[in-house]
Amino acid sequence: MIRILLLFVLGYVAWRALKGMITPGGQAGAGGDESASPAMDADMVQDPRCGVYVTREEAVRAEIDGRQVFFCSRKCKEDYIAGRKAGR
Ligand SMILES: [Zn+2]
Repeated sequence: MIRILLLFVLGYVAWRALKGMITPGGQAGAGGDESASPAMDADMVQDPRCGVYVTREEAVRAEIDGRQVFFCSRKCKEDYIAGRKAGR
């Protein structure tokens, strides 16, 4: 009886492992689900100054604290940097 139970548990574990290999999307989160979200979303970046979304191509880039920040215009970029320096 115990052997049958053990076999059942083993089978269940094997089945789960197999299922996890076939459909990794369930636990991968942002990793393997790129085809599900439209390509447009991936190219949109938010201007931290005014909150407007712009495409990466037309955004004005700045490197702040070692990371890329995107703005809708030069003015927003300058305002944002000026605001940071003012300590607000
Ligand atoms: Zn802006």
